[in-house]
Amino acid sequence: MDFNLDWLLSTDYTQPQNFLLIFFILLAGIFLRYLALAWLYHEWVYKRMGEAMPYRRLHEQIRLPQVKTEIWYSFLGAIIFGVAGVVMLIFWQKGVSQLYIALTWWDVLWIPISYFVALFIHETYYYWLHRWMHQPKVIRHFHHIHHNSLYTSSFTSFSFHPIEAGLQAIFLPVLVLVLPMHFFVLIALLVTMSITAVINHAGVEVYPKWALKSPFFRWMVGATHHDLHHLKYRCNYGLYFTFWDVWMKTEDAGFEKRFEAHTQSKG
Ligand SMILES: [Zn+2]
Ligand SMILES: [Zn+2]
Repeated sequence: MDFNLDWLLSTDYTQPQNFLLIFFILLAGIFLRYLALAWLYHEWVYKRMGEAMPYRRLHEQIRLPQVKTEIWYSFLGAIIFGVAGVVMLIFWQKGVSQLYIALTWWDVLWIPISYFVALFIHETYYYWLHRWMHQPKVIRHFHHIHHNSLYTSSFTSFSFHPIEAGLQAIFLPVLVLVLPMHFFVLIALLVTMSITAVINHAGVEVYPKWALKSPFFRWMVGATHHDLHHLKYRCNYGLYFTFWDVWMKTEDAGFEKRFEAHTQSKG
């Protein structure tokens, strides 16, 4: 089985006019994806779910001036991620990346394995990068922008200083140089990053109350977990998963109790 991406790879993106064209297409796609996802999640999950189950909300209502600033930094971040996207495309085109399209039977195994390996590597990279960014001498230079949002909303999900956006955006172009990855896995990773970032910032807990006892969901970050990071700074550094926080004893001691409070109705 094969599907064809010749149309995408047949243009020479190192030519300035082609570089700019694909860059603007990616920029628009990345930024509109952020706006659409943040808005939809806020309207449908934060508002509707929050009305039906108020105890699931971590804090009330979003602040418009804060949202405007978050949208501005997300736009700057989209520029950085757009450049990273074109660089990745050029790597692929030049044959230096390990991205591939043709499927073989081996992919039945390799697609799920490479997806989880990529998530694990990303988690490890981000956890330690995040801890470094919280060093007193480092935080005030760029990571403080993300923490200007004390009470987060889905619009906080992509709001970073451009330097931090750069440190995040280099991850995938570097990873595809070393890890053989099907194009579908790359798309799945981008979707996972976008959706988990919104889930973790939206200010409403969506995971079920039994998640703490689940061998899978217990390791997912979620809104309550990441909200504690924004409230307390020096705990809960995880990106998708909680295992580094558990292993390094940086998970907030009150997390489980707070999770329970936001997942079960008292009425
Ligand atoms: Zn932080
Ligand atoms: Zn955050």
